[in-house]
Amino acid sequence: MSLSRIDLDGIGSPLALAEKIHELLPDLAPDFDLDALCAAFDIHSINRVETSAYEAAIVMDVLKAQGAILLAKGRRRERERFSIAHELGHFLIETHRPVPGQPLSCALNDLSHTDTKAADRHKRIEAEANRFAAALLMPAAKVRKAMTAREPNLDEIVSLARNFAVSKEAMARVYVTASRADIAVLILQHGRILRVYRSAEFPWIQVPIGQPVPNGSIAAGSNHEPGERTEIEECEPETWLSARACADVEVMTEQVLGQAGGFAMVLLRVERADA
Ligand SMILES: [Zn+2]
Repeated sequence: MSLSRIDLDGIGSPLALAEKIHELLPDLAPDFDLDALCAAFDIHSINRVETSAYEAAIVMDVLKAQGAILLAKGRRRERERFSIAHELGHFLIETHRPVPGQPLSCALNDLSHTDTKAADRHKRIEAEANRFAAALLMPAAKVRKAMTAREPNLDEIVSLARNFAVSKEAMARVYVTASRADIAVLILQHGRILRVYRSAEFPWIQVPIGQPVPNGSIAAGSNHEPGERTEIEECEPETWLSARACADVEVMTEQVLGQAGGFAMVLLRVERADA
């Protein structure tokens, strides 16, 4: 690839770094060769190791002359891609300084931090590396262009995830912000809410994280086999939202996709009276 770190000189923000890379390489395919990109930026090796100590790590000298990425062995390709992009983020983001003689290692949990304003420095730099990884692997403009469905739906998230070679959940996070509709994606395990991603205007969901999905929701309705998804159906807004949040909601819809390991993904959408 015909670029180097000199092309990124002076860019500090994770998002601006990812955007600059796409500006320099406008023809990158959605599932572009990430290893080649790393090589262009002086990451000389990417190795898989048998370890439970971390999910991914980057070994670099204090001056960041070059880097080596280590990955825990046996992960799916899309998981590896996100981990590699995350470590590349640590390498390229100027303020992420290594402790001399120690690799910067990241736990699985670190790969889901999203608060780039966190007071805790560790959480903040992990969130910054995640923001870089998401913007590198799923640039908003390209994702938006690829979103052609008449209405938001889980099949589209699944097919975009496949095209961009990322996990369904990683794509869902970007999808809710890229969509023009007011939507939310919930990740469930064994019928309980694990994580929630909402678009900016989607109302607060009153069911707390860790609690079972509400009775009367389509998600609660039946066992959803892996790969099986429901139609987009109307649901009662009161099932998910507070009475106050329901006030201007004209229609609410719900769709559920069963996944392996007792996981499921739920897509909620609200349409407002004034829309
Ligand atoms: Zn990290």
